[in-house]
Amino acid sequence: MTVTDTVATATGRILDAPALWPAQAHTPTVIGRQLVIERGEGAYVHTTDGRRLFDGTAGLWHANVGHAHRDLARVAHEQMLRLETYHQFARYSNDRALALGERLAAISPIERPKVLLNSGGSDAIDLACKLARRHWQREGRPEKTIILSREFSYHGLHAYGTSIAGLDFNREGYGTDSLVPETSRVPQHDLDALEARIAELGAHRIAAFVTEPVQGTGGVHPPHDGYFERLQRICREHDILLVIDEVITGFGRTGTMFAAERYGIEPDLLTFAKGVTSGYAPLGGVLAAPRIWEPFFVDSPETPIFRWGATYSGHATAAAVALEHLDILERDGLLPRVAELEQVLARELAGLAERRPEVVDVRVAGLLGGISLAEHLVAERVTDALVELGFISRPLRGNTLQISPPFIIDDAELVSFVAAIEHAITEEG
Ligand code: PLP
Repeated sequence: MTVTDTVATATGRILDAPALWPAQAHTPTVIGRQLVIERGEGAYVHTTDGRRLFDGTAGLWHANVGHAHRDLARVAHEQMLRLETYHQFARYSNDRALALGERLAAISPIERPKVLLNSGGSDAIDLACKLARRHWQREGRPEKTIILSREFSYHGLHAYGTSIAGLDFNREGYGTDSLVPETSRVPQHDLDALEARIAELGAHRIAAFVTEPVQGTGGVHPPHDGYFERLQRICREHDILLVIDEVITGFGRTGTMFAAERYGIEPDLLTFAKGVTSGYAPLGGVLAAPRIWEPFFVDSPETPIFRWGATYSGHATAAAVALEHLDILERDGLLPRVAELEQVLARELAGLAERRPEVVDVRVAGLLGGISLAEHLVAERVTDALVELGFISRPLRGNTLQISPPFIIDDAELVSFVAAIEHAITEEG
């Protein structure tokens, strides 16, 4: 732990905190006990004070192929020497972004999609929500503007993500409940409640329903059997676009390339980020179905423009890294490996739940696990104890521990991680 000695003034301000403002942090709790990572190797990271930690969360669910991968570093280096990037506004583009577009279209769970590339998951959500609204405006149904989402969902922290988030604390302190007009949240798994909300608001006012396939930050909640089948029926019946947020689940986390395949989901829009490069470059984006993009690709002077994009949309180095990364997933057989590791994780967590009364529920989907703890244990304290044992987990909503290690681990490492969790729970209990 790198210790920054903290000095509180009479007014209680922390004077000697680092210049860098920590994200999602209660600063007095964090300053002085930050874990400063300076190096990674595969599934492990090293801190500036000499700790070697098993990265049981793959950072923020992103480092799927592990840290400091030489092939990805080489490709980024080579691409930057050739061309760091060139923008894709108007008639410009770059060869790497175009190649990545083709590659993503080929593996997309949406048939004949168009691909929009930007810099991360929050970007992708903002873009998908705007595109959903733009769709209905262009269709001549301007009243269809409301974006529905689920309680306990997380969709990043841009204006749309903040507004549709089902985690209340992310919306607090801005003066209004939503930063963008026209959002509404429905209970997590309750489709009767969704139908009631649609009836209350009027389907003619609802643009889209946004959901994660497996709720991540909300506590790792896979869908119930039949959830998506019925959800899709409801969306189709009411002409509501279905936006699937695959920022965590995309690119193999649940054992299929996209969770849409695993759960039989046919979205109109799909957002991705994290796993598209395993975090080696900030990249995210949206896959859009033909009904969304076709009107913008008509050979006519009347064809409308969708005004999206930023300087880094289709960043050439990020795209080159993503292309290499997709090769690595395939070459190293990492998707079938996730399916194997799922079995190990499910077995280990079932054993843990049986042995430890402090464990009230466990959930697994691919290499995603959630362990809900009894109230007398504090997940945050358990994760602190785990760091002392050499393992990184993270407290999620619902007093839950996050398990989402890189795909490259062996069975024994996963077994040791769960054993360490049991040890930490026992100590804290
Ligand atoms: N959507 C989901 C489901 C996420 O889990 C996240 C981040 O964890 C985001 C969106 C936001 O992505 P980013 O942090 O890359 O902006």
